[in-house]
Amino acid sequence: MSLSAIEKRRATLDALTREPLDILVIGGGIVGAGIARDAAMRGLKTGLIERRDFASGTSSRSSRLLHGGMRYLAQGRLGLVREASLEKRILHGIAPHLAGPLPFIFPTYSGSGWPLWKLRIGVKIYDLLCGKNLGKSCGLSKAKTLDAAPQLNPDGLTGAVRYFDGFTNDARLVLDTLRSAAAHGATLLNYCQFENAARTQAGWRCEAADQTNGQTYSLPAQAVVNATGPWADGLPHSGVHLRLTKGIHLVMERSRLPVAEAIVLTEGKRILFVIPWGRRIILGTTDTDYSGSLDDIQACPEDIAYLLGVVNHFFPRAKLFAADIISSWAGVRPLLADPNGSASDISRAHEIKNPELNWWDVAGGKLTTYRLMAEQTVDRITKATGLAAQHCRTASEPLLKAADEFSGLLPPEFGREAVAHYCAQEWALHLDDVMIRRTSWHYYFPDAPRKAEIAAGWMAEFLGWSPAERESELVRYRAVVSKSRDEEILSQTN
Ligand SMILES: Cc1cc2nc3c(=O)[nH]c(=O)nc-3n(C[C@H](O)[C@H](O)[C@H](O)COP(=O)(O)OP(=O)(O)OC[C@H]3O[C@@H](n4cnc5c(N)ncnc54)[C@H](O)[C@@H]3O)c2cc1C
Repeated sequence: MSLSAIEKRRATLDALTREPLDILVIGGGIVGAGIARDAAMRGLKTGLIERRDFASGTSSRSSRLLHGGMRYLAQGRLGLVREASLEKRILHGIAPHLAGPLPFIFPTYSGSGWPLWKLRIGVKIYDLLCGKNLGKSCGLSKAKTLDAAPQLNPDGLTGAVRYFDGFTNDARLVLDTLRSAAAHGATLLNYCQFENAARTQAGWRCEAADQTNGQTYSLPAQAVVNATGPWADGLPHSGVHLRLTKGIHLVMERSRLPVAEAIVLTEGKRILFVIPWGRRIILGTTDTDYSGSLDDIQACPEDIAYLLGVVNHFFPRAKLFAADIISSWAGVRPLLADPNGSASDISRAHEIKNPELNWWDVAGGKLTTYRLMAEQTVDRITKATGLAAQHCRTASEPLLKAADEFSGLLPPEFGREAVAHYCAQEWALHLDDVMIRRTSWHYYFPDAPRKAEIAAGWMAEFLGWSPAERESELVRYRAVVSKSRDEEILSQTN
């Protein structure tokens, strides 16, 4: 690490340890980032620590949708749909660069359990629940459906509905939320792991370990928020019970399945998506119970075969194979524990718990509802602790003062300037921080391994890496990404 990067980290650690914070947030996913932004904007002395890179957990492994949830509408969970639908619109207002309107074609087939008449009513309710949706829904005849998606299987097709949700870039949403938090005075540190905490008269004293050098620190804070997503029930003092379900996504060339709009595919009660992403498409997702390691979540051959099977059923002429996969990602949903019901039946509601004095757990929810989760959390903390705070402004104040070319729905142009920006302004320490979370270059470009070598050269320059450090960053990157471009897994699925 360069001297200036070391000094920056030292200054951050100094700010986190010197005087008690009002709120210390543990976890730099979307929920932690949202809480840090909200708390800092209300004038609270706020810190956040993340054990790895910001957004390296579930918040960079989602379907990237801002949605009320058509599936939850079908389940009659109107409150949940309305809550998320309003948030979808708020995010479009505060971060238009990360919340683009995305039209969905939902084709219906006879005997599928998703009758057209019901969906026609459903999308109207969906629009109403938003107040004003990002676009107006409509019904489509069979002919119009095939005009919109000519490659769709015509056998048994009865028509479709078109409705609108938002498309985002999950990791960028975390990073821009953190940029906003920092601009409002929050102190943020990645690669710093919370280990344990002890109660003091004034609040808590948290032990944390700097993952870059192994040094441990003591962080005093009046209130602590556990926002560690899938890790939340394993943290000391946590009162959370989770049920984890895994989902995978595959990225392919859009030319292999040239869809103009997102397409909804059904498999029983489940809903899957084909999502256009620039010159690529994203296929997702699965929803299966997960009890494996949280540090090694993989798209396994069965997941890939399932996903390709469903997509090929709806688009038989496309004949997609595992060899078409450019990249993949897999993540786990931190759902509130409910031992009953199938994985996809479990509620996506969130919960804020206060199991010990001034300790708060925030769990469940969705990317779409993170802002609301943050608002409710900070409201509850300030009420319980009596911390003087201003009112919440996160629904109206833009995330960034001005949009820049370094953050958007599509990867930024591959280049030195972008890498310089991420190293200087966005806490990038490792090659995978840039290739995966800051830019999505790894997922988007078939020649990502070659691009990684070039980017490593630029990072060496900006962060002062020696040739040996540059090489070990490439080794680290290859180890991190091997799971998403695993030749062996792909060959098994062909
Ligand atoms: C396959 C899939 C698809 C999804 N699609 C959508 C979608 O389209 N739309 C939507 O709205 N939602 C979606 N979701 C849900 C959404 O992604 C999650 O609800 C959300 O990202 C969870 O954010 P989080 O901050 O709670 O958790 P995370 O993003 O996992 O963040 C928790 C962080 O805590 C850190 N941490 C853990 N332990 C410690 C420690 N000891 N010290 C410091 N830090 C620690 C972790 O490293 C991690 O970065 C999807 C989820 C999955 C899995």
